Amino acid sequence: MASIFTKIINGEIPCYKVAEDNDFFAFLDINPNAKGHTLCVPKKEVDKILDLDEETYLGLMSFSRKVGKAIEEVVPCNRVGISVIGLEVPHVHVHLIPLNSMSDAFFKKKESLSAKEFKEISEAIAAKFK
Ligand code: AMP
Repeated sequence: MASIFTKIINGEIPCYKVAEDNDFFAFLDINPNAKGHTLCVPKKEVDKILDLDEETYLGLMSFSRKVGKAIEEVVPCNRVGISVIGLEVPHVHVHLIPLNSMSDAFFKKKESLSAKEFKEISEAIAAKFK
């Protein structure tokens, strides 16, 4: 069965899209640690990051770097943190999280955003993605 992220990539489930190329897709995390928390996903559906072929692994990191740079331009923060967890959704994804304190990196403190805020921040990051 297709993962929830494959359904998002295929447009079957809505998301706040940030960026896309031939092989990768980025969208806002729906339950963000911080405003601008973004997930970068390979279109190829693989569960664990270390099981990716090397080309896809390196491509995902390169794509995530570009998305992270766009986040840095838009979201005031000390830096963008990068995490890979994958305990909830078995489809590789890189978390890009704007950090101001260590607690922003913990998956306990959550930010509540309105639909308008999600839309605005996704569009602002998308506009800076190169
Ligand atoms: P993990 O698999 O532990 O790295 O966490 C999965 C992440 O995916 C969590 O931060 C969720 O908030 C996020 N997530 C789950 N479903 C969706 C969705 N439909 N849209 C956006 N983010 C999601």
